[in-house]
Amino acid sequence: MSAWEIVIGLETHTQLSCDSKIFSGASTAFGAAANTQACAVDVALPGTLPVMNRAAVERAIRFGLAVGATIAPTSIFARKNYFYPDLPKGYQISQYETPVVAGGALSFMLDSGDGRFVSKTVRLTRAHLEEDAGKSLHQDYAGMSGIDLNRAGTPLLEIVSEPEMRSSAEAVAYAKTLHALVVWLGICDGNMQEGSFRCDANVSVRRPGAALGTRCEIKNLNSFRFLQEAIDFEAQRQIALIEDGLEVKQQTRLWDPDKFETRPMRSKEDADDYRYFPDPDLPPLAISTSWVERIQSEMPELPQVLRTRLVAELGLNDYDATVITSSRGLATYFEAVVSALGQTHAKLAANWLMGDVLAQCNRDGIDVDKARVNAAQLAQLLARMVDGTVSAKIAKELFQALWEKPDASAGAIDRMIDERGLRQISDRGELALVVEKIIAAYPSQAADYRGGKDKLFGFFVGQAMKATGGKANPQELNQILMEKLSA
Ligand code: ADP
Ligand code: MG
Repeated sequence: MSAWEIVIGLETHTQLSCDSKIFSGASTAFGAAANTQACAVDVALPGTLPVMNRAAVERAIRFGLAVGATIAPTSIFARKNYFYPDLPKGYQISQYETPVVAGGALSFMLDSGDGRFVSKTVRLTRAHLEEDAGKSLHQDYAGMSGIDLNRAGTPLLEIVSEPEMRSSAEAVAYAKTLHALVVWLGICDGNMQEGSFRCDANVSVRRPGAALGTRCEIKNLNSFRFLQEAIDFEAQRQIALIEDGLEVKQQTRLWDPDKFETRPMRSKEDADDYRYFPDPDLPPLAISTSWVERIQSEMPELPQVLRTRLVAELGLNDYDATVITSSRGLATYFEAVVSALGQTHAKLAANWLMGDVLAQCNRDGIDVDKARVNAAQLAQLLARMVDGTVSAKIAKELFQALWEKPDASAGAIDRMIDERGLRQISDRGELALVVEKIIAAYPSQAADYRGGKDKLFGFFVGQAMKATGGKANPQELNQILMEKLSA
């Protein structure tokens, strides 16, 4: 039997980083006591009217421009009617027929498994503005459930992809790239634990070339791991059903990370069930060309553009360029190091940033913009390594010392090198003396080396490094050892 093809389309809810709600002035700050940030509009008191938050629209436009989408000059808010306790109005204000953002595409890099990276592009259907609902709390309320309406009216941009992903790995790569992009653009804080970025995964399976199969939608996946596990489970569940001669029913399902399975939540509604209609309380959203142009002029360089430039202009490989452009903080740090150190040392800067700097940041649980060794200092440290003042090994130790005890003052690196007597020994005469002593101390090893045991060269390098406290210039040392040992 021919293999199965998995088809995935993602709907991603990004919480827009606005101080106030999408249709009211209440605060959106996370973590407040229940119902302290829900005003009359959010609790749907009769007679209240929604007022559009300009900052939310601006963020939607920024997103649309970043993905090459069309920004609708006029878009419409619609009521999506359904009953749920956390939705006191009885409808959610969303956009249906005319969303603010239409089309566009997202490209991302995929690890092909053999160390190569391939680029894939997924088209976007649309992105629309909508309000979030409140939250039902099923904890201890004397046997009852509680409703917290703080989240009601939080501005969301729902970003809908075409069903163009073919594996959970592609879906995760798409989601990570989208996440990095919205954070890069400054339109979402990206905090997945707090629900600022959550995905609904639509999954179906089919025989390659066949029409699209029936899909199930797995709701509210708020981690990349859950996204991957839920898709893998769901695809296998559907394949098993079909292979048993059964049918996949269109359903909304939930991922249970503890039981490691998806389970049905409700049978899937069709759009008709929601009785969408234009919201009479909100006028059409008009977006002028000049507004769009102003936002365009304020856009930062986009990660994909920067990534291409890092490869083309600085000669970085795809992997390095992808990691460095995964956050604006990393990219900014990297560019600052390279501009101080010189483009010829871009690869060295990338290695240190992705190695030592990131490792320390991870250990301390901080973002790179809070790194205890800043970009200017790393550039100085690397400059001293490049010009031969210190060896790579000593540079690592200095980096470590500086991280433990940050000193951002001018000339800090040079002072440390001098105070600790770490200058590399490059003087040939001085190194020659060291080498001669060592050869004299290990006559049998020297004889073996000369007799053809090439591996012993490393032994002599090690001894010389030990004798100089790691300060011997490696290139000079190698040359002198070569000369003296072959003499
Ligand atoms: P809704 O889920 O609100 O009814 P749509 O019908 O527009 O909205 O579909 C939403 C998502 O489902 C989109 O991301 C789309 O790519 C995806 N999708 C649609 N059909 C399929 C399918 N057969 N298999 C997988 N994903 C699908
Ligand atoms: Mg849906």
